[in-house]
Amino acid sequence: MKILVLNSGSSSQKTALFEFGAGDLPDPALPIWERKLEWKGAEDRQSAAAEIIEELWGGSNAVIGSPSEISAVGHRVVHGGAKLTEPVVIDPSVKQSIADVSEIAPLHNQAALQGIDLVEKLLPGIPQVAVFDTAFHRTLPPHATVYPGPYEWFERGIRRFGFHGINHEYCAHRAARLLKLELSSLKIVTCHLGNGCSLAAIDGGRSVDTTMGFTPLEGLMMGTRSGSIDPGILTYLMRKGTSGDQLDSLLNHQSGLMGISGVSSDMRAVLKAADEENARAQLAFDIFTHRLKSGIAAMAASLGGMDVLIFTAGIGENSSQTRDAACAGLKFLGVSLNHDKNSSVDGDTDVSAADSKVKVLVIRAQEDWAIAQKCFALTSL
Ligand code: ADP
Repeated sequence: MKILVLNSGSSSQKTALFEFGAGDLPDPALPIWERKLEWKGAEDRQSAAAEIIEELWGGSNAVIGSPSEISAVGHRVVHGGAKLTEPVVIDPSVKQSIADVSEIAPLHNQAALQGIDLVEKLLPGIPQVAVFDTAFHRTLPPHATVYPGPYEWFERGIRRFGFHGINHEYCAHRAARLLKLELSSLKIVTCHLGNGCSLAAIDGGRSVDTTMGFTPLEGLMMGTRSGSIDPGILTYLMRKGTSGDQLDSLLNHQSGLMGISGVSSDMRAVLKAADEENARAQLAFDIFTHRLKSGIAAMAASLGGMDVLIFTAGIGENSSQTRDAACAGLKFLGVSLNHDKNSSVDGDTDVSAADSKVKVLVIRAQEDWAIAQKCFALTSL
């Protein structure tokens, strides 16, 4: 059974094909084919994506004979809102629900809807499954869900959802397997540090706290997003004449590593500039790791302890300096790194010191594989 995964983001689209055979697959399994498209600006995204998908069965690099070999298509959908809390086979009412919440995550949900429409055209009749970044956090308790504004906000649907759930969940399961321990016995803090950054507190496999909220803007400092700031700044700026759209752009695109360093939203470029004694790049790194450290400790407090600390996604997997700076402040929680292992990570690696009370792991994000598995589970029955 071949499953195609479309992971449509605001700035890129990843497409991958996985093959499920009769026997057990390695977990994670590698895709038999994958492509990544980075969006540059005003290009025609649908036809660019169509061309890529058609390469699967047409042209010299074809990996399948015809589109009918694809059994199902899985889509990453960033925001499921309050209604969509499990992977689901897409029908017109599911599409409508995805469109309804796109007000809260416009860039991401619109991209997923375009991907769904494209597959309807290219592969008519093939079952499509939506897998939500919010779904894993459906177990957040009320005190981690409701904002301390007027209660009426909650009644109107303004509440915390949390994101990156597909990868937070995958990492928790992967950690239990790597450590040969029962997931149900573990208190895990996962740090998803990519362009977007969030933490999750996972107790026995269930998400009980996370740093992102109503939108993917809350919590940690990110590539171009501010993360949490004093909401008083927003009312101050609005009174001074900044519009809602301008605030949106400032907070989502002109803040974070980019906004502080003035160099780049890319951690590699920020670290390089900091090495060259660019003070603002150094400040950006210091704010990033300061907030990361406090966030990890807050997640540990929500769990009442921490057995495993996981670093994942672009920065989490590749930046030993970020892991080092975050963990240096967490000795009081029993976190201690093996510096040799931390500086030479290759694949999923235990980087904790032998005497560390907390196991510190680096785990590669495998969102597409996680989506394919959920899609397989729903459509192979
Ligand atoms: P996305 O959220 O778009 O999936 P990724 O998980 O690919 O993003 O993460 C992108 C981030 O990873 C970028 O900020 C980039 O700077 C960072 N990154 C990638 N490689 C390295 C590296 N070797 N050192 C530091 N940061 C890195």
